Amino acid sequence: MARRPCLDCDQPTEGTRCEPCRLARGRQRERARQRPTARQRGYTTEHEANRAAVLAASRICWLCGHDGADQADDVVPKSKGGTAKASNLRPAHGTNPCPTCGVRCNQARGNADATPPPLSR
Ligand SMILES: [Zn+2]
Ligand SMILES: [Zn+2]
Ligand SMILES: [Zn+2]
Repeated sequence: MARRPCLDCDQPTEGTRCEPCRLARGRQRERARQRPTARQRGYTTEHEANRAAVLAASRICWLCGHDGADQADDVVPKSKGGTAKASNLRPAHGTNPCPTCGVRCNQARGNADATPPPLSR
């Protein structure tokens, strides 16, 4: 087989790239496939601050109406264009199930559409 210069490093090789360059490109693709960080998915420090503020203001779950919410749920999910603003966040049971009805309301709702009650406080 004719040896031709590697596309990446010009070393003579069979095929289009030498072994080290093929491996390096494989590693780059592997990195690109890796799960994006929370920040890259659209979760920002603004979101974190608003999440904390929403839970500090109220622990009444907006989905079941009971006390003890431990997560801030996105009213309009991020995947549907929801924002990180406090107006798009409501307290919801999620990390621990609701002590009254036993449901992890945030997970139970998933990405389903839901109508939020007005912000009461
Ligand atoms: Zn090469
Ligand atoms: Zn709940
Ligand atoms: Zn409940």
